[in-house]
Formats: sequence, structure tokens, C-alpha cells
Amino acid sequence: PGIFAVANHHFSVATESSWKHRTSLRVPNLIGGSFVDSQSSEFVDVINPATQEVVSQIPLTTDKEFKSAVSAAKEAFPSWKNTPITTRQRVMLKFQELIRKNMDKLAFNVTTEQGKTLKDAQGDVFRGLEVVEHACGMATLQMGEYGSNVSNGIDTYSLREPLGVCAGICPFNFPAMIPLWMFPVAATCGNTFILKPSEKDPGASMMLAELAMEAGLPDGVLNIVHGTHDVVNAICDDDDIRAVSFVGSNQAGMHIYSRASAKGKRVQVSAILLTLLSTVFANVANMFNIIVSIEAKYIADQLKCPQSNMGAKNHGVVMPDANIDSTVNALVGAGFGAAGQRCMALSTVVFVGDSKPWEEKLLERAKTLKVNAGTEPDADLGPVISKQAKERVCRLVQSGVDSGAKLLLDGRDIVVPGYEKGNFVGPTILCGVTPDMECYKEEIFGPVLLCMQANSLDEAINIVNQNMYGNGAAIFTTSGVAARKFQTEIESGQIGINVPIPVPLPFFSFTGSKASFVGDLNFYGKAGVQFYTQIKTVTQQWKDLSSGSGNSLAMPTS
Ligand code: NAD
Repeated sequence: PGIFAVANHHFSVATESSWKHRTSLRVPNLIGGSFVDSQSSEFVDVINPATQEVVSQIPLTTDKEFKSAVSAAKEAFPSWKNTPITTRQRVMLKFQELIRKNMDKLAFNVTTEQGKTLKDAQGDVFRGLEVVEHACGMATLQMGEYGSNVSNGIDTYSLREPLGVCAGICPFNFPAMIPLWMFPVAATCGNTFILKPSEKDPGASMMLAELAMEAGLPDGVLNIVHGTHDVVNAICDDDDIRAVSFVGSNQAGMHIYSRASAKGKRVQVSAILLTLLSTVFANVANMFNIIVSIEAKYIADQLKCPQSNMGAKNHGVVMPDANIDSTVNALVGAGFGAAGQRCMALSTVVFVGDSKPWEEKLLERAKTLKVNAGTEPDADLGPVISKQAKERVCRLVQSGVDSGAKLLLDGRDIVVPGYEKGNFVGPTILCGVTPDMECYKEEIFGPVLLCMQANSLDEAINIVNQNMYGNGAAIFTTSGVAARKFQTEIESGQIGINVPIPVPLPFFSFTGSKASFVGDLNFYGKAGVQFYTQIKTVTQQWKDLSSGSGNSLAMPTS
């Protein structure tokens, strides 16, 4: 629609590119700086979730094509590694400028393929752009350390060197931000990269890659391969790939973590994982002396019911003294924004004290939200990603009703005029939810807010801490004492105080804790640089040896 025709224009950016004028729906791979059509006979449709139109098709990349992408990355590595860090940073400086210039086109693509509103899609791009901006000054984070005269006439210093070929596997819910958590950091550190976008929304990755090359990223530094399980397995197994970053669901995360770490790779997984199994794998990883960074959203119960796909539950604790209007606005935004498809969505509210007045206000505010295609200017929330996702959300809401929760607002039967085929779910509120309910134990990943009640802050903290997940939690209060107690006693890794979605900016890192995080190297920030580099230490001696120093076979001491 409009100036951005969906079918054959949405990959085009305002640059010369080898595939800008293509009319085919088929998305090429990016190998060694060229956009190459796959020879695969199998393709997967990329579907606009608001209309069901086929936007494009991704190939199930063949093994031969995958290998040539890895070869291109391997070949590009020595010269990119030896390119001065200042030059690598300057590529990022240009890249961030180009992302800004193309923000609207990128956001439009995200909305077309993922469904979120245009404004929210701009946020998706912007939060990734901030990582690129941070990469422009990455040299200081890659610096080593120096110890002078550590022994007589001997100095020791450390260097942080890139690893080689790294890979990233992305989820559907942030098609611009999450690729940008990965390849700009890896590439600025001097690595080359294989990116596997989500098969549901690959367009933003393609546009970003084109812009990165226009910014000066040499051929082969960034490669893109499309596909699903097979290409992911090929990434895990490939001996030339040194590190794998993954963001996504528990099943995929578990599988990728075990498979890649068994091959001796560094693995950085931001997903929903089983703590116990993660610990086992971490031990295996330690045997290989590799660094493991898992951000895991978790569930111990899953061990008892391995079929269930459970996930993050980020809680918002509301104190009776909180400002009612700003708190309700925050809850509505964080619960229903992006149709609840954020790993940091505030999907559960715990009201301390009488919840009735809050629930009424919440209902009043939620009812005003406009559900529409993300491209429509009045849309507050768009569709969920697929028909299957909608079915799952509806099933979990029904399970809450069946187990005694009160359905304050039901968005399951919504029909959006003009977009009757869209996977829409309207804002839905379930009250009187208890920890044993399936709707509480599972990550719903839809616009559904669960309401619980506690008699005191201690009780609310206990509810949050009893939950096995630990991605994020927020408190809404005007009391510094309550806020400080919450900050100290809550076990989640990302705490908001009157801030509903406390995702840190790139000079920090995306942190989770408890079962939401295992290991020590998070995405982006200082930890991201550590993940994509390895330490080398140099011990040097420069002294006049002409007088001779004699032999000693004993262990050197100072
Ligand atoms: P997903 O796990 O289904 O897919 C993620 C990637 O893994 C895709 O590229 C997909 O092709 C691949 N994949 C999926 N199943 C696989 C398998 N069995 N074997 C090999 N590869 C496989 O996740 P999604 O549905 O795209 O994304 C939503 C999930 O991601 C949610 O659970 C959300 O909480 C999570 N997420 C977590 C964070 C975080 O930082 N913790 C951020 C964003 C999303």
C-alpha cells in the first residue's frame, strides 16, 4: 500500500544494490557481499499477519550455500581483523547515519512482516540503532590491560582479540533490534558474521545488511543465510564458526545451546531454558573450557511436564500509594504494547491491598485501545504473528477461565474491519489469577494481562520470587522505602522502579537472573564485547642480556 508496495519493494532502500530492482518475492541469501538466489527447491512464505498476504518467501538454504557463506566469512576475517579499530568504528558511524535515514522504510517493513504498529516498529529499529551508536566507541571496551614490572624487568599485558566467524540466530518479535544486538558488536570487535534471521520476518535484516555494506562493511564480513532448523543445525555443527548468539524460545534455545557447545563453541542464548539442564550443559561447556552465557527464561515445572512451552512472566507490583493514572498507563502499555509479544512485556500485575479500584481503572483504559493493522495510524496494537499463535493465546485464556479466573475483558473474538483475516486478539484481562493456573505458568506471548492480589509488599515479593523466571520485574510506588526494599529483595535481573519495561541501554547489557540467566556474558555492552573477543596475554622482557643470565630449570619467580 501507499508508496511502499509490499510485494516487491519492501527490501529496497535508497542505495544502489545488486537486488534493489528485483521483482521476485524470493529473498536471496547474502554471501561474500553478493545477494545470491538460493538454488533450493523449498521455500517458506513470509506472511503479513494483518492480511495473510504472502510478502516474500525465504529459501531453505542448501548445505552447499551455507558452506559458501561460512567460507566467505572465513576468508574475510584476516583482513577485517587487521583493519584498525578506528576504521571499523567509522563504518558503524556511517551505518548509524544510514539507519536513521532509512528509519521509516525499515519500520514499514517490520510492520508489514511482524505486525506491530509503525510507531512501535520505529522503536524496534531505534533500540537497535542505539547499539550501533554504542559500537562507534567500542575501542575503549576492547582495550586490554597492562601490568608493568610484574617481575624484574618483565611486563605483562593483555589483548582482546576477535574470535573469527561468529553466528546469530534471531526470533520474530524484534526483527530489527535483535540482529542489531548481534552483528554490529561482533563486527566492530573484528569478527565476521553469519546471520540467520527469523523465517517469519527476514526483511529488516536484509535491509540492514544492505545499509551496512553501503556504510563500508567489506564483502564477506556479514553474510545472511535463511532457513529454519536445518540451517540452524548447520551453524551449530560447523567447525569454522567460533561463537553462536541465540535469542528465542526454550525448545530452540535448549537445542542450540547443547548442540553448539558440544562442538566447543561459545554460546550466548537469550531464551527460555530449563535451569537444571542448562547447568548440566554449563558443566559440559566448562569441560571444554569455553565461556557460556545463557540468558534463560525458565521453569522448573517443565521438567515435570516436558511438553509444555512455558516462558517469561514479568511482574508489575502495584503499591496502594502509586499514582493511579501513570501506573495504569504504564501497565496498559507494557502489557498490551506490541500485542504482548515482547520478552519483557509486563504480563502479570500483583496489586498490593484492594485491587478492585485498580482493576476497574485498568478495564476502562484497556477498552479505549484500538486494535488495527499496524500500518493504520490509529492502531495501538496490531495482530499476533500467526494463526497458530492466536490459537495458543486463546487456549491459554480459556484455561484461565476454566480454572476459576475472572475474565474482565475478552479480546478473543475481535474482528477488525478491513482486516478480517488478520490474527488479531484484543486486550484481554484475567483477574483472580493464582500461581497454579496454566495461564500463569506459561508465557502467553499475546495481549493478555493477568491480575493477582497480595496483602503486603512482602507477600508480593514472595509471589515474584517464587516464580522461576527472572527476566524483569517492576514496582509502582511513591515510597522510596518500598522501592528500595523491592530492588534489594527481588531476584529478577532487570528491575523497574516506576518504569514498566526496564531494558537497559547499550552501555549496560541486557541482563536476566535466576533461571532467566545462566553464565556471565550478556548481549551488548561491555559483556557483549567480552563475548565476541578472547583474551591473549603477553609477557615481555627487554633487558640487556649481554652479561649472560645463566640457566635455571626451576619455575620462574620474582
Ligand atoms: P523461536 O525459538 O521459535 O525461533 C527463534 C529462532 O530459532 C528462529 O530463527 C528459528 O528459525 C529457530 N528455531 C526455532 N525452532 C528451532 C529448532 N527446533 N531447531 C533449530 N532452530 C529453531 O522463537 P520465536 O517464536 O521466533 O520468538 C519468540 C520467543 O523469543 C519468545 O519465547 C520470547 O520470549 C523469546 N525472546 C526472548 C528474548 C530475550 O532476550 N530473553 C528476546 C526476544 C524474544
